[in-house]
Amino acid sequence: MERNARRGAPRKRASPTQLAADAALQLPLPLFELPPTAPAAPTPAPTGLRSTLLGAQPVHYELRRSRRRTIGFAIDDRGLRVTAPRWVPLAEVERALQEKSRWILRKLIEWRAHQARRERVSVRWQHGATLRYLGSALTLAIDPDARGVAHDGDLLRVGLAPHAGEAQLEDRVQAWLKARAREVFAERIPLFARRLGRAPSRWTLSSARTRWGSCTPDGAVRLNWRLVHFPLEIIDYVIAHELAHLRELNHGPRFWSTVGELFPEFNRARAWLRNFPDDMPLG
Ligand SMILES: [Zn+2]
Repeated sequence: MERNARRGAPRKRASPTQLAADAALQLPLPLFELPPTAPAAPTPAPTGLRSTLLGAQPVHYELRRSRRRTIGFAIDDRGLRVTAPRWVPLAEVERALQEKSRWILRKLIEWRAHQARRERVSVRWQHGATLRYLGSALTLAIDPDARGVAHDGDLLRVGLAPHAGEAQLEDRVQAWLKARAREVFAERIPLFARRLGRAPSRWTLSSARTRWGSCTPDGAVRLNWRLVHFPLEIIDYVIAHELAHLRELNHGPRFWSTVGELFPEFNRARAWLRNFPDDMPLG
């Protein structure tokens, strides 16, 4: 996303509280806490980056000199990049940054919220990293004394040698998560099947990158094991949704009233899941 400093001025100027409200809107349900949007203490700028204060907020940026005639801003997963003509003095770059500070801060908050959403399903496979299990945070601990994988309070102890590679850790923990997913689904599916008066012909775990769940015309339900990262409410909604397809293999009004029979509070979960990953629809 790029804005031209001279032409692309944002029309609306939001107050800092509005900015915070905008960020909150992206996460309609407090099911997961967001990491703080403002850094508690200014961190030193990494080498090659400059830093400035926008409002009270320390912001790092990369300055690139180019042949362009205007100062441009771009914000993405790499942070803020400023492109300026070679002849423009730093003071003028700084002035342009201040002028666009509200737009820049808003975009940075949006990116952080977006990344936070992504991080909830993408795990760093390292000792000390956190992962979500049924909506709560678990800290991964490589523990040579642990047998297999042990869930111990907020810790997930993984019995591996201290210098085990990421792939080994990922394999162990994913196997554990899949087993937990299977347990949770095996417990929840009969609940909704009883309410519906119909059970799936079979159900299996899926690892699809593109779907949380699906249901075929012959009544086979597939559920993504990664749902085990989410609160039970979300898992229940996905199960209710797929089981409702046993009666209505469409997304028409009768389908949604069936979902409502099975899981009356489904709207909250539906909105949450929709807002969640931009690329994972429900089949
Ligand atoms: Zn569906």
